[in-house]
Amino acid sequence: MSNLTIRPINTGFIPTSRKLYHFHHSTHKHLGLEQDEKVSLPCLVFLIEGGEKLILVDTGMAWTERANEYHHPGSVQPEGYAIHEQLEKLGIKCEDIDIVIFTHMHWDHMFYLDKFVNARFIAHRKELEFAKDPIPVYYKSYEHPALGITAPFTGIEIETVDGEEEIIPGVRVFPSHGHSPGHQSVEVDTEEGTYIICGDAIFIYENLDPIPEIHYSITPPARYADIVACWKSIEEMKRRAKGREFILPSHEPSILERMEKTPVFGKKQN
Ligand SMILES: [Zn+2]
Repeated sequence: MSNLTIRPINTGFIPTSRKLYHFHHSTHKHLGLEQDEKVSLPCLVFLIEGGEKLILVDTGMAWTERANEYHHPGSVQPEGYAIHEQLEKLGIKCEDIDIVIFTHMHWDHMFYLDKFVNARFIAHRKELEFAKDPIPVYYKSYEHPALGITAPFTGIEIETVDGEEEIIPGVRVFPSHGHSPGHQSVEVDTEEGTYIICGDAIFIYENLDPIPEIHYSITPPARYADIVACWKSIEEMKRRAKGREFILPSHEPSILERMEKTPVFGKKQN
């Protein structure tokens, strides 16, 4: 195991509906979800330190006005939460980042790219293809020019991977399609074991729970591009991870509390 560490960084808050995002409609009755509820979720990115390159997984959401106008009303990027501001608080400049890996290319995972002047950007081939030419249902997610705005990845050179690949020793990407057509997750070897930075392959930890009475091994989310791929990706994540605390979703709220006690994940606790 390597000495890599993972530092979660929050870039803002996005309210999402339990029924329309977190849980598939077939599960609502079993979860006792009669009333819908909006829950404010964090928008996390992850800094991988200690390796031969400094890596950031995703760059987080847009500023408040942009998020409200085109995406989820009620979203907030508080002062000091934009990725460059958060990095600065840690004494890191955007120029110091060598590699940015995208789990996928939705608006809340890839803002402020022009600040990362020295970084290589890496996405899955299928994700880049779809981001450039999505179906209209996804115009907002990828900020398609048909909406009269400029997508955050416009003019940015993005390299692609096409399956399971090592990015640097101890850091690997693997496909976890379903939430989006080319979604991928990032495995990071640490002293504590291997973590999986899983983007939006699951929204919240409850997506990992089985529902035995309907034969479900997981609780699928309500928002996906491909439900079959989405389901299989979640099962794959459960197979790979030592435990749920080793799975790091972009929007899981309990990670905020965990960060308060342990700002850096992956170090062996004595
Ligand atoms: Zn997201």
